[in-house]
Amino acid sequence: MAMQKIKIGISACLLGENLRYDGGNRLQAELIRELGPGVEWAPVCPEAGCGLPVPREEMMLMSSPDGLRLRCKYSFQDHTAMMENWARRKIGELAGADIRGFVFKSRSPSCGLAVKVFPEGSPRAAGIFAGLFQSAFPDLPVEEETALAGAGGRARFMRRVSALSRGS
Ligand code: SF4
Repeated sequence: MAMQKIKIGISACLLGENLRYDGGNRLQAELIRELGPGVEWAPVCPEAGCGLPVPREEMMLMSSPDGLRLRCKYSFQDHTAMMENWARRKIGELAGADIRGFVFKSRSPSCGLAVKVFPEGSPRAAGIFAGLFQSAFPDLPVEEETALAGAGGRARFMRRVSALSRGS
């Protein structure tokens, strides 16, 4: 009998999609190979998805009196509203897609879970999409790819994912 795959969201560049600001990817071959047989990946790229081009100017998180802002690193163009509007629509879609966890790209101002915030010395924060995702799905296991580089981290993540799947 065919094994039932568990659907897990993932930052699309980790699957090898060339969507990063520099036109490249961050393929995690070992992660995909090791978890692959039991997982159906649901790739998401918030920056390309919300309408930004590939390649594009690198972005960063900035703190401001209006809250966290997603800005271009050199021109300071503010893409926060565009990203938040798209993210809310995407999260609505994902709510109906039965995903059981998410693997986020570390250090990304859109996807990271604990990202550097400017000006220097500001507390780290989740990227804009990752933060909204976690607020919408507080019970879903999430990790950055860096935490899944070793077999132990991958096993712990999949135990949490499987426990959630059994409980639903
Ligand atoms: S927005 Fe996320 S998925 Fe898209 S390229 Fe950046 S880190 Fe990867």
